[in-house]
Amino acid sequence: MSLSIRWRLTLWITGALLAALVVIFLVLSFALRTTLTSDLDDDLTADIDQVVTLVFIRGVENEAALQDVVDRFSVGGLSSGFVVLLRDADGNVVAASQSIDPEEFALSDGEIERVLDGEAVSRNLDIRGDEQVRVRAVSVTVGGEVLGIVEVAESTDAISATLDRLRTLFLAVGGVAVVVAFAVAYWLSRWSLRPIEEVAAVAAQIEASDLTRRLEARGQPSEVQRLSDTFDAMLERLDRAFQQQRNFVLDVAHELRTPLTALRGNIDVLLMTEGLDPEKRAQLERMSGETSRLIRLTTNLLYLALAEAGHELDRRPVELDVVCLEVYHIMRDLQPEVKLRLGNEDQVSVTGDRDLLKQLILNIVENGIKYTPAGGQVTLSLFRDEVSARVVVEDTGRGIPADQIPFIFERFHRVTVAGSRGSGGAGIGLAIADWIARAHGGEIVVQSEVGKGSAFTIVLPAEPLGASVHPAAEPGAPEAENVSSPQ
Ligand code: ADP
Repeated sequence: MSLSIRWRLTLWITGALLAALVVIFLVLSFALRTTLTSDLDDDLTADIDQVVTLVFIRGVENEAALQDVVDRFSVGGLSSGFVVLLRDADGNVVAASQSIDPEEFALSDGEIERVLDGEAVSRNLDIRGDEQVRVRAVSVTVGGEVLGIVEVAESTDAISATLDRLRTLFLAVGGVAVVVAFAVAYWLSRWSLRPIEEVAAVAAQIEASDLTRRLEARGQPSEVQRLSDTFDAMLERLDRAFQQQRNFVLDVAHELRTPLTALRGNIDVLLMTEGLDPEKRAQLERMSGETSRLIRLTTNLLYLALAEAGHELDRRPVELDVVCLEVYHIMRDLQPEVKLRLGNEDQVSVTGDRDLLKQLILNIVENGIKYTPAGGQVTLSLFRDEVSARVVVEDTGRGIPADQIPFIFERFHRVTVAGSRGSGGAGIGLAIADWIARAHGGEIVVQSEVGKGSAFTIVLPAEPLGASVHPAAEPGAPEAENVSSPQ
């Protein structure tokens, strides 16, 4: 799963602050440790001066007196004062504070050499397992002769305590800062990404059926403005392309329909010729059937373009039983080997566009016949109840797999079933049927079982019983009237 930009920004900003805090803490504690250690070294130098004054400048008579002086210095021991260790010029311990183990303070040969060379050598030592001390050693020289080595040590507890306090402070302040930074970063990224989300929300509302809408984001940050302008320009081009395509389909369908209708008329006239050779008659009938199929296809294309153009319905009362009868007469000879029969025929009228409703039933019945093998049967029935009319088309055909049913109303979707005979469809019949049913406030319900058959039920709102019905095909009917009557 990939993180959203908002979360990424939030985490990046919080992470950057955390990293900055860690770096500041490391630099600060290093500087503090260096300063405090240097101060401690100064203290140790002062301690050494006291020891040197008492032991070497004033002088002591014997070892007991020497130990006595050393003990006086080390009253507080490591916990609150300092301890002393005196060595001779060879590095051997001469006297040491009683509270320490001289072995733990041993100087390496290299250190002794540096001390004897006049250098003040400081180092950190871990003693008694867990205590850290700072030790400083210098040599005492008079007239070029080394009298001895003085080593003093103090605990570094104070430095550790200060650094601990600094760490605690950073943890507390840093914790709060990180939480605050997280909240601020989240709010900031939300705030700065909101214009993009607004643009995306409007873009998502714009569908292919409504390409006239524009984002028109004004007063947005320049990047968002650019995105919106680019999107609008793309919509403009798409809209133009869609319109051109629609107009092209409309023109082509119109241009094709007229000669096709004339062609079928001529074939039908030829079929009326008496004493026609049976073979020629069969050929002419096949030609007439194919021409009718082409006319239905161009009519569907025409309606497809009209649906996309947001065609307004010509609403009038329509006697659906009469329409069903017309469809029956047109379709019964479509495929002689599949029987089309009329089932229940209630009298129902609905309000709508007669041509479109006829095309709707034609498409469903044609499918029933197309997808039913020879010897099968298609039944066209019409029922009415209180509020609705139901046109039911049942076939004993190949059926539709359940997982395909949700898609059959999509444009150009075709279910290919192995072994079934080709139907020569374009995959738009059901899309048109669905559009017509919805445009009339109805729906198409499908029940199907593979190998047994399908039942398509067109449910439409019915006119109240007893409502007056005008003659179906009225003079002066709109253009859709002219484009239809596909037989
Ligand atoms: P087509 O031009 O392919 O018939 P349609 O939109 O009319 O396009 O139908 C879409 C698909 O639905 C068809 O390809 C077909 O597979 C399936 N279909 C439609 N009606 C039936 C039916 N009565 N029996 C079996 N399959 C059907």
